[in-house]
This record gives sequence, C-alpha cells and structure tokens, in this order.
Amino acid sequence: MKRFDMFDLDPAILRGIADMGFEEPSPIQEECIPLVLRGEDVIGQAQTGTGKTAAFGIPVLERIDPRRREVQSLILAPTRELAIQISEEMRKIGRLKRVRTLPIYGGQSIGRQIKALQQGVHVVIGTPGRILDHLRRGTLNLSRVEIMVLDEADEMLDMGFIDDIEAVMKYLPEHRQLLLFSATMPPAIRQLAKKYMRKPRYVTVSRGEVTVPVIEQVYYRVLESNKLEALCRILDSEDIDLAILFCRTKKGVDELAEALQARGYLAGGLHGDLPQQQRDRVMSAFRKKEIELLVATDVAARGIDVGNVSHVINYDIPQDTESYVHRIGRTGRAGRTGVALTLVTPREMKQLRSIEEGIHQRLELREVPSLEEVAE
Ligand code: ADP
Ligand code: MG
Repeated sequence: MKRFDMFDLDPAILRGIADMGFEEPSPIQEECIPLVLRGEDVIGQAQTGTGKTAAFGIPVLERIDPRRREVQSLILAPTRELAIQISEEMRKIGRLKRVRTLPIYGGQSIGRQIKALQQGVHVVIGTPGRILDHLRRGTLNLSRVEIMVLDEADEMLDMGFIDDIEAVMKYLPEHRQLLLFSATMPPAIRQLAKKYMRKPRYVTVSRGEVTVPVIEQVYYRVLESNKLEALCRILDSEDIDLAILFCRTKKGVDELAEALQARGYLAGGLHGDLPQQQRDRVMSAFRKKEIELLVATDVAARGIDVGNVSHVINYDIPQDTESYVHRIGRTGRAGRTGVALTLVTPREMKQLRSIEEGIHQRLELREVPSLEEVAE
C-alpha cells in the first residue's frame, strides 16, 4: 500500500493527514504532491470526489513557514461554502504545524475579515470578488505569496469570475507558483493556463471518463403536473441518509423546500439570495443531519462536500452534461456508493438523451413507486 510518508513531509503534517483519517494518497494526490513540492506549476484534472483539495492543500501546507506572519498562499474558490470547506480541511491538516488559514467571502462583515487578517494569516482561501475588494482597499497584502491555487476553475469561469481572477493576479509577485484544479478542461481554462503558467505539468486521472462508476444512475418519467407527488413517493421508497435535491431556479428551491417541509420532511433550501447567516445555518444543520433533504440551486451546491450524501436528486433536469456530472459528484464521495435520481418530463427527454451521450452511458429507467409500494 502506498502511504503518505513516501513524500518528504513534515511529521506534523503527516500527523494532520492521519488525523483526517487518510491512509493512502488518492491517485491525483500521488501525482500532484511531489510536483507541487518541487515548485512546478500544475494543472490537475480529476472528477469530483477524488481528493483534489488535499492534492494542493498538503504540499501548500508543507511549504508554509509558520514563523513568517504573512500571506504565503492564496486559494481562490467559486463559492463561500467551498472556501470554508477548504479552509477547514487545511486547518485540520496544518494544525500541529500551526498554520493559520482564513476563509474570506462575500456576505460576511468586511470589518471582521480585516481584523482576522491583521491577526496574521498564512493561507487565505477566498472567493474572487471579495478578495479583490480587500486588495483594492489595501487590507490584504499578497506581495509575499508563493503559491496561488485556482480550485474548481471551470466553475469559477462558468460563474463569470474570469475578470476578477485576472485582476487578483496583478497583486501577486511575478515569480509565484500557480496551481489550477478543475473537473473539466474547457478551452477557456487552457487559455488561462497558457497565459499565466510556466511550463505547467498536466496531471489527469481517469482519462475520458467523466462520471464516477460507483454512482447508480436512474431516471423516472414524470408529468410536470405531478412531479411533487412522484418525488415524495420516491423519497418514501428510497433508503436515504442525506440527499441533495436540485432545482433550476431560486424560486423553485424555495417552493420545493416549503412543499417538502409542509409534508413533514426535514428539508432546507439553499441559494444565493438567502442571507449568509441562514445559508451557514442550513449547511450546518445538514452536516448534523438535522436536515436530511438539502434543496439547492447548482451554484449554491458547488463544491459542497458532505460525507454520507446517499442521494442526489435532480428534481429539475440539469441543463447540460457538465452540470449533471457536477451534481451527481456530490454523492458517492471517496469511494462510497451513491444514487443519482433524475426526474424527466416528456418535454425533457431530449435533454436526457444529450446528457447520456455526454457521459457515454445510459441511465436506468425506473417506474415511480405506486402508493401501495410506498405504504409497505
Ligand atoms: P474533490 O475536490 O476532488 O471533489 P475533495 O478534496 O473534496 O474532492 O475530497 C473528497 C472527499 O474525500 C473528502 O471528504 C475528503 O476528505 C476525502 N479524501 C480526500 N483525500 C483522501 C484520502 N487520501 N483518503 C481518504 N479520503 C480522502
Ligand atoms: Mg474540490
């Protein structure tokens, strides 16, 4: 078995990794860690759930000098939730080395962030807009950054962050290492890499394969008029631990979350128009299983990694293959099996076929359980 001590890592970091319960490096970690330690620019492409966070997090932590009280690494991520998650994982791994990490995202009091930054932080993990805000105010100094990471780069580009990202780059020293991680490699990402990276090393695992084989993928034919009824029967017949339900719009999220609550399900809604406090509350309730059904938009659910998500349910069919792959990647994490269920109305059959083409795989058609079956 390959172990983390095959890399030249500080014993404190090795303890941190062991505390996370990681026994052996995942394939992307095995390839990325030595390259990043050597100072190379790296492009890492792998499906969601393959351990990309630690693939950059571990070598970044190794390279930090905790005695220097300055920002030595900047990590950009598409959403607040993801920034918090990366910060937490790195804080745990770097705890014994006394590395200080801080998530910086919009929606939180800027005054509080400024105070936190003044305490001395080694690694800042932030969303592009808010990082840029601090840079323009002069409350964040990136002139001593040695490693910059773009995590979920495809998502950031999809969300229109390209200008912000490029503006942030200008505040970094010319000689810095750049790492880019992404589940997919659209042309815009390749261009970004070409513009900002020096001889990047390209690391990819499971070439050509876009979906995680351990996810059971099923679809149901439903009528628009009884989608909710169909969903409830499915929910009642499935053995659900935690589920993320996707809706196309914020309004759809509100409506579905309310309808499910009204029927007695432990459901909560998550989307970008909700106040940050409420979003944090919903996420923490979901992690603690006080909420079992998290109803969300694509954007709100980006990068969320909660263990035990047994089901991803596409209440509204995703727009395209990439969105489908990202959504179902919320389940079946780190080798656990997951179930992805998609509700398809007759008008949406074409969309389903095009997704199937994109993933080179057919989804299994299942009948919506009848009332009797649900009652059993
Ligand atoms: P990605 O960014 O590729 O979608 P994450 O970094 O979020 O994936 O990791 C997915 C899950 O796998 C997380 O719960 C993480 O803690 C876990 N994980 C990462 N690396 C390992 C490892 N080497 N061994 C066991 N679990 C791991
Ligand atoms: Mg990730």
